[in-house]
Amino acid sequence: DKNPIISIIGNGGVGKTSFTTQFCYSQFIEYYDSAIEDIFRKQIELDEETLNIEILDCFYGDEWNYNFKQGNYEKTHGFIFVYSITDKNSFDELENYLNEIYKYKKVNDFPIIIIGNKNDLEDERQISKEEGNEFAIKHGCPFYETSAKTRYNVEETIFTLLREIRKY
Ligand code: GDP
Ligand code: MG
Repeated sequence: DKNPIISIIGNGGVGKTSFTTQFCYSQFIEYYDSAIEDIFRKQIELDEETLNIEILDCFYGDEWNYNFKQGNYEKTHGFIFVYSITDKNSFDELENYLNEIYKYKKVNDFPIIIIGNKNDLEDERQISKEEGNEFAIKHGCPFYETSAKTRYNVEETIFTLLREIRKY
């Protein structure tokens, strides 16, 4: 598919919008005013192929469910699940988001990737890299620590997911 659609999911404040705007605009936009859901589009070259990608920056909680019940999950080709390494609660919540998706799709039906964002904030770390890695292994998917601020692993994350999507 030349127009892959990616949904980015996780608690408020983990950096979903910052990650997406860093990827799409190569900027760390501190106060991006995002509503319940935003769609970001970017044309990229990947392995000599031109792709027009869409990233659905989804809200969480009831609104998130609402959006997904409206059919977003159906058109999504791959999911990015985000927690913040500085927020244990956001890590614990990921399991719920994953289960929500598994309700709609069979587990191995679609590619997912897990990221621990805010990796630049080492002093505030609450979740070790090993914990993140174990969680990803449990769900059989790739794992990266990222920083939407420094762009660390931002492209790697998206490119890895796109290569997974291509296999399906
Ligand atoms: P969202 O609710 O998941 O979309 O989170 P936002 O993208 O709005 O980010 C929430 C806050 O965390 C904002 O103040 C961002 O500037 C900050 N933030 C996001 N990603 C990072 C990061 O990688 N490093 C640092 N230091 N701050 C970040
Ligand atoms: Mg946001």
